[in-house]
Order: sequence, then structure tokens, then C-alpha cells
Amino acid sequence: MSGQKKTIRGGVVTGYGSCRFCGQQATRKVLEDWTQEEKDELVTETCECLEARLYAAEKGQKERAHKRIEMLFGESNGVVTCNVAVLELLHSIINPVCEGNIAAATVDIGNGVKAKINITNKGNIKVGRTKTDTSTYEA
Ligand SMILES: [Zn+2]
Repeated sequence: MSGQKKTIRGGVVTGYGSCRFCGQQATRKVLEDWTQEEKDELVTETCECLEARLYAAEKGQKERAHKRIEMLFGESNGVVTCNVAVLELLHSIINPVCEGNIAAATVDIGNGVKAKINITNKGNIKVGRTKTDTSTYEA
């Protein structure tokens, strides 16, 4: 492991990783300080085997769901103010929904705003925000 790394530039090296599912090895351009686990992850994500492709699709979907949470409930959403604890809670719902442990979760954020995270029949994660206009109930 010493001195054998081929430095390209700026700490980018050629690293070996293996797919977690089929075990196929591949070289990828990685950063010098990546752990073996990170290299394996990159190779797994880009492997052609069926399990790896399903895994990559699921991971991509999770990433999009996390981004959507940030978009709908993050700092600059302009509709509802969610503190860090609320955002953490919403993000933590993605995994159990994606992995099928729960079908859906609704979080009542207050002021008529609700977050709903569920999985569709097609297996896609949906992140929704609803706002009920409560002004009609006010005297
Ligand atoms: Zn594979």
C-alpha cells in the first residue's frame, strides 16, 4: 500500500474497489484520502450487475427525496419554518419508507402545514407538503 498509488493531480489517485454484490473489481479515479469502503461504494454504484443497478437506483431515489425535503422544508422554502430537529426527523423518514418498513408518514408541522412521505405503487418515494388555510376558522 505504500508508494504504489498513481497520483494524477490534486490528490486524485487510481483506486481499486469491488462491487459489494457480485465482487467484481474495478479501478476508479478516487480521492487520495478515500477509505476502502468509499471506493467499494463507488464501484458498487457503477457496476453493471443487477443487484448493483437496483441499489444505485434506490440510492438515487433516496438522494432525490432528501433534496426534495430540503426544497420543501429547508431554510429557503418560503412557506414554513422548520428547525433542524424537524428537518432531521423528515430526513430520517426516507430510509424506513424506501426500505418498505413503513408505507407512509405524515408529520404535522403546525400552522396547518403537513409533510407527507410515502411510496407510490410504482415504488417511487413521494415527498409532499400541504398547507391548510385556517384563516376561515378565525373570528
Ligand atoms: Zn456488481
